[in-house]
Amino acid sequence: MTIRIYDTLAREKRAFEPQDPSRVTMYVCGPTVYNRAHIGNFRPVIVFDTLFRLLRTVYGADAVIYARNVTDIEDKIITASRETGETIEAITKKYAAIYDEDAAAVNALRPTIIPWATDHVGEMLDIIEALERKGFAYATEAGVFFQVSQMPEYGGLSKRNLDDNQAGARVDVDHGKRDPSDFALWKFAKPDEPEDAIWDSKWGRGRPGWHIECSAMAAKHLGKTIDIHGGGIDLQFPHHENEIAQSECAHGETLANYWMHNGFLDMAGEKMSKSLGNVVLLNDLLKEWDGEVIRFAMLSGHYRAPLDWTTDLLEQAKTTLNRIYGALRRVWAAEGGESIDTGVQEALSDDLNTPIALAELSRLASAANGAADRKDAGAMAEARSELLAAGALLGLLTKSPSEWEQGGDSNENARIEALVAARIQARADKDWAEADRIRDELAAEGIEIMDSAGGATWRRT
Ligand code: AMP
Ligand code: ZN
Repeated sequence: MTIRIYDTLAREKRAFEPQDPSRVTMYVCGPTVYNRAHIGNFRPVIVFDTLFRLLRTVYGADAVIYARNVTDIEDKIITASRETGETIEAITKKYAAIYDEDAAAVNALRPTIIPWATDHVGEMLDIIEALERKGFAYATEAGVFFQVSQMPEYGGLSKRNLDDNQAGARVDVDHGKRDPSDFALWKFAKPDEPEDAIWDSKWGRGRPGWHIECSAMAAKHLGKTIDIHGGGIDLQFPHHENEIAQSECAHGETLANYWMHNGFLDMAGEKMSKSLGNVVLLNDLLKEWDGEVIRFAMLSGHYRAPLDWTTDLLEQAKTTLNRIYGALRRVWAAEGGESIDTGVQEALSDDLNTPIALAELSRLASAANGAADRKDAGAMAEARSELLAAGALLGLLTKSPSEWEQGGDSNENARIEALVAARIQARADKDWAEADRIRDELAAEGIEIMDSAGGATWRRT
């Protein structure tokens, strides 16, 4: 099954052909770690995790190398360090760990490699040196800059020409630059900057620009040419445009064969962003919603389209997942079936069409219900493995149906388990009044006990 990817550079869907099918490479720009990430920041995490899962299914789990960096040096981190008095290392370690936890809560697999920018300053300086040697870089009193006019193809990704270029949000406006579009490769340390944000270089003490970080980490871990480079659409310009300029001018090779960009997660039609103040933290959402509900809601829109984040979207995701888990419960005991349906994989192979893939998942759930209605053991076993295989591709259905229906936190579940066990004991003792009392107590909390031959299970109703 051919995977087709919408390549932002080509502005069309193209058949995906990795350079080496036994080593498929993907680089996705990761977080700048100085605060908790909002749910918009997790759109690329979930989208590219879904692609990672698809690629692993097609090429083999060990054949896909996915790198997602940690940006642990940047102006905002230095500001956070100043404001809190904590070291840069303490801040970045803390928020990178929280990010990892949040990503795991929405079932994102750990990328193969998580490179940290500050571990690669030597490699960044090597690229800057190559750029200077080849006439693409110059130093001013503020730092070392890439001279955009030296690269005729500059702007190819964002289809801008030099005249409409503004200095991007993360580019220091600096009068020593030869052109406003030139961007920083290396920024000299200002007098009041903390020592842990300063490195030596042959041009002077300072720190790398943001774009050079990704150029260096991608080349070191994945090679000079990578198969897929991804990130949010806001990174297309200037970040990815500048990555292309640096990497291609230094290495003389194409940086990435496919460029993928996710659209924005919006709130009431506006991009969710810290600067607009309309952010919802994943960490807060997880207090109310299961990670799978959040993931399902995220995948319910196509990754390139804007997605409006609403409580309604989460409610719908939850209702649909309840229905799918309900179907899975009915076929749960029917193990050993084979999965041959490829509807979900086909949908994902068409430029990650997750809305269709989720519709296919619902179709498989209906098939499971049909098989259970007919008491067709073979069809039930098949439906079970179809659902689980499709779930594995989408990062859904990772719980057992009873875990799903029980939900709640583990202390709370342990208390319920204890009551259910006490009721089983009461029944064994023929203490029907006590057994009924416990059942009624749990029912009042919205918990239903389902007696079965071997004991009892429970679920939240
Ligand atoms: P940042 O930490 O701001 O560099 O963002 C990390 C990642 O999240 C980048 O790939 C951004 O493009 C992406 N991102 C940030 N805000 C949103 C949003 N509202 N919707 C979708 N992606 C976003
Ligand atoms: Zn990047």
